[in-house]
Amino acid sequence: MTTSIIGYPRIGRLRELKFATEKFFKKTIDEAELLKIAQELRQEHWNSAKNAGIQFIPSNDFSFYDTTLDTAVSLNIVPQRYRELPISNLERYFALARGYQGEYGDVKALSMKKWFNTNYHYMVPEFEDTTEIKVNLEKLLAEYREAKALGIVTKPVLVGPYTLLKLIKFTGKKQLADIKVKIAESYSEIINQIEAEGISWLQFDEPALVFDLDEKDIQLFAELYQPIFKAKNETKLLLQTYFGDIRDIYETVIKLDFDGIGLDFIEGRQSLDLVKKYGFPTEKKLFAGVVNGKNIWVNNYQKTIALLNALPNKNNIVISSSCSLQHVPYSVSQETELENTITSHFAFAEEKLVEIKAIAQIFFEGNQEALTENQKLFTSSRFEANQEVQNKIANLVDTDFVRSPAFEKREAIQKEIFKFPLLPTTTIGSFPQTAEVRKNRLSYKRGEINWDEYEAFNHQETEKWIRIQEEIDLDVLVHGEFERNDMVEYFGEKLAGYVFTRFAWVQSYGTRCVKPPIVWGDIARVQPLSVADSVYAQGLTDKVVKGMLTGPVTILNWSFPREDISLKTSTLQIALAIQEEVIDLESHGIKIIQIDEAALREKLPLRRTDWNSEYLDWAIPAFRLVHSKVQPETQIHTHMCYSEFEDIIEAIDAMDADVISFEASRSDLSILDALKEKHFRTQVGPGVYDIHSPRIPSVEEIGKTIERILEKVPAEKLWINPDCGLKTRGKKEVVASLENLVSAAKEARKSLEN
Ligand code: GLN
Ligand code: ZN
Repeated sequence: MTTSIIGYPRIGRLRELKFATEKFFKKTIDEAELLKIAQELRQEHWNSAKNAGIQFIPSNDFSFYDTTLDTAVSLNIVPQRYRELPISNLERYFALARGYQGEYGDVKALSMKKWFNTNYHYMVPEFEDTTEIKVNLEKLLAEYREAKALGIVTKPVLVGPYTLLKLIKFTGKKQLADIKVKIAESYSEIINQIEAEGISWLQFDEPALVFDLDEKDIQLFAELYQPIFKAKNETKLLLQTYFGDIRDIYETVIKLDFDGIGLDFIEGRQSLDLVKKYGFPTEKKLFAGVVNGKNIWVNNYQKTIALLNALPNKNNIVISSSCSLQHVPYSVSQETELENTITSHFAFAEEKLVEIKAIAQIFFEGNQEALTENQKLFTSSRFEANQEVQNKIANLVDTDFVRSPAFEKREAIQKEIFKFPLLPTTTIGSFPQTAEVRKNRLSYKRGEINWDEYEAFNHQETEKWIRIQEEIDLDVLVHGEFERNDMVEYFGEKLAGYVFTRFAWVQSYGTRCVKPPIVWGDIARVQPLSVADSVYAQGLTDKVVKGMLTGPVTILNWSFPREDISLKTSTLQIALAIQEEVIDLESHGIKIIQIDEAALREKLPLRRTDWNSEYLDWAIPAFRLVHSKVQPETQIHTHMCYSEFEDIIEAIDAMDADVISFEASRSDLSILDALKEKHFRTQVGPGVYDIHSPRIPSVEEIGKTIERILEKVPAEKLWINPDCGLKTRGKKEVVASLENLVSAAKEARKSLEN
């Protein structure tokens, strides 16, 4: 057995699972039909792996929503509010994932968080004092049997006890220490049932081992696994890690009774050194994650073989993916509209199966043919480099990253010019994307209407919303973003260097998928990105209209990046393109420019020790590069979606924007203490109401929030705005809510002036 994968996409090549599940939610298909579609997909996935020659094929990696949730459900870690609903088990499962509103009540969903450093989200298991852990392996066993009936022997997958414990949220008095023994017992009970079924290999996913670990963590891990090893008899246990290396616990785990250990040699920068330094026991299998499960480029076989050759022992190696393939799309073969000269460089999940097999054939059997063929892709440059862009990057100097004059001087100059009242009001950029707005874009894309018709409609929408904003009496207006599908694709489509796919969807959470654009070449601005829309909107009113851009870090983080140059270089290329746009906007009379960095926080390295050197040290300067050339009179705003940036406050201040708005209303404004403590100098606009609900907040309610913020933030630094995402709401509630927001701001202003 020499080939393995950790997991496979499950949403369907054409997103069949998504559509079927959504139909089930709308009750246009019944449970039986949904189950049938899911079963067909599982069979297809197993067969793909088998036909490609993969030997360790996973099962129970399928999920209707999320595998962490599946593991929690298998242990009965289900809060009371869901347990008591008299509905079917599948309905209960979806209630946990999405909430339940119906004849038996109104129950909110579990919370959702980013899965390590990916754009996938998992459901956070909630542990109450009344939660009683009980093992129920029905799903796992059913899927194992289902595959077996097809003649495919699989290795079932579960989230391991250590990672599960680290992800659990405790809502009562009980804490981790109170349940760890019970968790360990339950996992040994799982082993017993697995043994009874005659399953030969079982995979426990333990990605939480790639964080910085301390002695207590290491001890907890060992403690949790003791009873598991005792229960283990015939079944072999694979400890699967990914998203980094396990430097803090490597020496410990190689001495434990695992039969296989999976290491990530792509993101795990120290994995190879660890194996070389401490060795790897010959009696265990080393599942070597050498095919990137997160990016879409063809594997460089020569490099991979060199890496494998550097490992001490050949006989116990299993060639594997670096993480589950769920983070890449299904198949390049569907992208028939792209030139073969481009697609020949791509490998999605199906192609990665073939790569794993090919690497095994080269490594174990010396198959030279596959190696030679693969090398051709790497010998010649795959695209024409943009020399001009490369020169610009090479010639950047320190002063290119510094805006002058310094913040305080600009603040004084801008106060003079704009003469905003205290607590100026604004929004984050988008206004409702109604069915007509989306239809307009689609009709244009399909060629059913021409540019003039398309633009006329958008202008009409913008004018309508400019009048509404004037009417509401907001201080800084926006054009509404009616021309944009999302924050990244819109800009990517206009920049040189990007490639777009048709079917390359990746699951983001539940039934939601994203289709990240692919950075193909050097990025350059070859046309204005937003100037016309901003200039049009500004021409309609005497009030200031903000220009609206997405920042370089966010654009890159929501794309598939190149691997032949560093993330830093790619980000700088995008930053230079956005810088040109910023200067162009300024020269066209746009006085405030907002550059959104919605995804800045989410790509922080998993190890805190890497935060600065691996990320912030170039991500923050890349943002500064974008606005370093503007006049002191031009006000630069930025926006971040998560307010959980207490730990990187100084880095945020170092972005040197004049104003930052952030989503805050759902996190109880906890950020404000940190702002105060760190003497945050950038002006701030914490979202004062939650736009995720159709509820209209009252003047009084918003007024109270403003008062609370004013306890921590000086009035001269404070802006009043809602959270981001108004595009998802309807016109009526947006207008009513913003009216209340402005009234509340005016009342607060009045009492401050008295
Ligand atoms: N300007 C964007 C909007 O208002 C920002 C989106 C976001 O924060 N994700 O929609
Ligand atoms: Zn946001």
